[in-house]
Amino acid sequence: MVTGATWADLDRELDAWAGAGRAAPLWWRDDDAVAATPALDRLQRVSGAAIAPVCLAVIPAGLEAGLAAALATHVTVVPHGFAHRNHAALGAKKAEFGPDRAIATMANEIAAGWRTVHERFGARARPVFVPPWNRLDDRLLPSLRAAGFSGLSARGPRALPRVTGITVRDVSVDIIDWRVTRGFRGAAAVLGEIVGGLAARRAGGVDADQGALGILTHHLVHDDAAWDFLATLGRHLERSGTARWHDVDAVFAGAG
Ligand SMILES: [Zn+2]
Repeated sequence: MVTGATWADLDRELDAWAGAGRAAPLWWRDDDAVAATPALDRLQRVSGAAIAPVCLAVIPAGLEAGLAAALATHVTVVPHGFAHRNHAALGAKKAEFGPDRAIATMANEIAAGWRTVHERFGARARPVFVPPWNRLDDRLLPSLRAAGFSGLSARGPRALPRVTGITVRDVSVDIIDWRVTRGFRGAAAVLGEIVGGLAARRAGGVDADQGALGILTHHLVHDDAAWDFLATLGRHLERSGTARWHDVDAVFAGAG
């Protein structure tokens, strides 16, 4: 059970980082992009105002022309699965790359997805795999390497799979309530996770292994409350002078 927190709690946590002479590390991943949309523009405006680089996870098989040209300079692109199609058995948790299909079939899709993203986005593309629904059969880890990936990002905190050559950097704060409202979870709940995640890193706890605290957003489903929260978060972090948004290169620079 996550305890809620307030903006004042966040400011206090940031003060503690400042007092320790350290910068509070965060990073921002946004999933499910396929096209240039007003919501994508808003994501870029809000993150730009927060001076926060965004790692945009795009669905390779669904990409529409025009997305690449619409991206701001602070956005990098990674593949989000292949077609974001659920192949799990009825009643099982949704997964595109779960235990339900042949490894060779999934490995081919993973490789095709990276080729597409690399072709479409060029220097903006990064070889970091983001599995849809944040689920990946561990047996696919060697396939990621073979396809040219050096990074994996799902949802944490969790026991991290260890595989040579793949750096795992999960996101741990999802601002959307997928189970009930499919809208913003509310500032108290999200701040509780942000403050808790930063405090754990400051203390050198379990989460410290994961480096920067990953925030997960989905621009296509954000309501005004979600956008307002992100804008306010950006202001609090910037005002503190002690928070640092890391870009995807910095996040994945460490050895896994
Ligand atoms: Zn997704």
